[in-house]
Amino acid sequence: MKILLNNIDLNEALYATSNIGFVPTMGGLHSGHISLIKRSLRECNKTLVSIFVNPKQFNNKKDYKKYPRNTKKDLLILKKLKVNFIYLPKEEEIYRYRNKKKIKLFNKDKILCAKYRKGHFEGVIDVMERLTKMIKPNKIFMGEKDFQQLYLIKKYVTKNYNTKIIQCKTVRNKKNLALSSRNLLLKKSELNIASKLTTNLILFKKSLFNSKNINQLIALKKKELNKLFNVKIEYLENRNKYNLKISNKVKNSKIFIAYYLNNIRLIDNF
Ligand code: AMP
Repeated sequence: MKILLNNIDLNEALYATSNIGFVPTMGGLHSGHISLIKRSLRECNKTLVSIFVNPKQFNNKKDYKKYPRNTKKDLLILKKLKVNFIYLPKEEEIYRYRNKKKIKLFNKDKILCAKYRKGHFEGVIDVMERLTKMIKPNKIFMGEKDFQQLYLIKKYVTKNYNTKIIQCKTVRNKKNLALSSRNLLLKKSELNIASKLTTNLILFKKSLFNSKNINQLIALKKKELNKLFNVKIEYLENRNKYNLKISNKVKNSKIFIAYYLNNIRLIDNF
């Protein structure tokens, strides 16, 4: 396992390396990340995992500061997995050059998290553009947990490169809660609430199978969840999984949620 701290290290390591699998992360590694890494190890000659808490994608400074960081533990996990390269850049390494063009989302993409976290995806697109240009991976492994991120990276970044995005299923714990680094910020009682809310939505999705007016049922569900779990739901929406347009069908659609549990923002999709 080689730890690469800057772009010189990175270029040296990747020189004459082909078929690179890339797993971008912000650290705080858990089994969700590990599933992506294992898939890359299986499918590619060399696997590079980056750990970079990207300040540009945080629309809230407090959120950036309290984001869980545990590089020591992360490195132990990565060593055990026999990952080839770990890229741990400083902010200056990534943002050495200015962008020629300002990153702007089309209005039709200003939905879900893009609507509520202003500048977030512009920051994600910026860093992914820079990383893809530097690493030139054959495949980038990303989780469905962040479905909108995956969708936008395909649309705005990798279409310009010879890189394929590999979409990986969301890993959940035994109580259905999607694993997330942010779960580390929750108390046990809050984790319990998040798990119950998730199970409720999984059952709800199953119950929609033959329903006609899904959006009406979703509006009722939003009210019910707010009351039942005392959370603040930012959005609960059913959207087509190929174009993210609002959908009134179960087929080819996913239910997307973002909610606050005691100031911690959680997202999921079903
Ligand atoms: P993050 O470190 O949160 O930026 O996530 C890095 C990558 O891991 C992203 O592609 C995420 O979608 C993916 N990821 C995060 N949580 C999970 C999970 N529970 N299951 C599968 N992939 C995940």
